[in-house]
Amino acid sequence: VLDIRDLHKAYGALEVIKGVSFSAHRGDVVSLIGSSGSGKSTVLRCANLLEDSQQGDILFKGEPVRWKGAGHNRRPADPKQVLRIRTNLSMVFQQFNLWAHMTILQNVMEAPLTVLGRDRAEVEHAARGYLDKVGIGDKADNYPAQLSGGQQQRAAIARALCMEPEALLFDEPTSALDPELEQEVVRVIKDLASEGRTMLIVTHDMKMARDVSKHVVFLHQGLIEEEGPPETLFRAPKSERLRGFLSSTM
Ligand code: ATP
Ligand code: MG
Repeated sequence: VLDIRDLHKAYGALEVIKGVSFSAHRGDVVSLIGSSGSGKSTVLRCANLLEDSQQGDILFKGEPVRWKGAGHNRRPADPKQVLRIRTNLSMVFQQFNLWAHMTILQNVMEAPLTVLGRDRAEVEHAARGYLDKVGIGDKADNYPAQLSGGQQQRAAIARALCMEPEALLFDEPTSALDPELEQEVVRVIKDLASEGRTMLIVTHDMKMARDVSKHVVFLHQGLIEEEGPPETLFRAPKSERLRGFLSSTM
């Protein structure tokens, strides 16, 4: 579904991604781990074109992003392609980013209605189904502030699912939550993994990464320091840095 090849990204003179490549095939769960500032969020944001990158290719279902310009002037060339990629790689953020003035149901329905222009009755049916799926069907008519953090994050996941994307991108979906609430969200992510959803997950939760991932990528200062299946990566890390990182987080 998603191929990242030799991605480079700088903020001005600060090079933060220095040549990162990995793929997520249909049904794969790929986790990105690494210490703060290693570039995890940046990779995710470049992947769905929320951020520009200066070099390297991003392929969505085999279709390379078309660019115009080069280096710091490089931008995606085709707004339709950007929209297609962004709506197909639905993002779930650490801070939920729900609209405070809309009910949970309205939040979930908003993008399919306005961005995809889908039929209201169909979208409502689907939205209620996704809210049930994440276990908050009874909260449809509440406002975000009336929900716990774990419920808000599950609403954000239902919202992402309602776009019927090819893949879900998570940026630290559990790190704003208390440990009890975190588990509700982990359970939903585990369910999605067992259904064969394609997911790219940035997380500090090594236990979740170990349980759900097919492939784990350890980033260090904008480069892949080590990667592999979770069994090898967590049980027998080769790099000294990964060993240090794991002993500080597990
Ligand atoms: P964390 O675990 O803290 O979320 P991260 O691995 O997600 O960290 P990024 O947010 O990708 O790290 O940041 C990578 C580097 O890019 C950091 O050095 C950060 O300071 C820098 N950076 C991120 N966003 C910007 C920005 N908008 N402008 C300038 N520098 C930025
Ligand atoms: Mg981050």
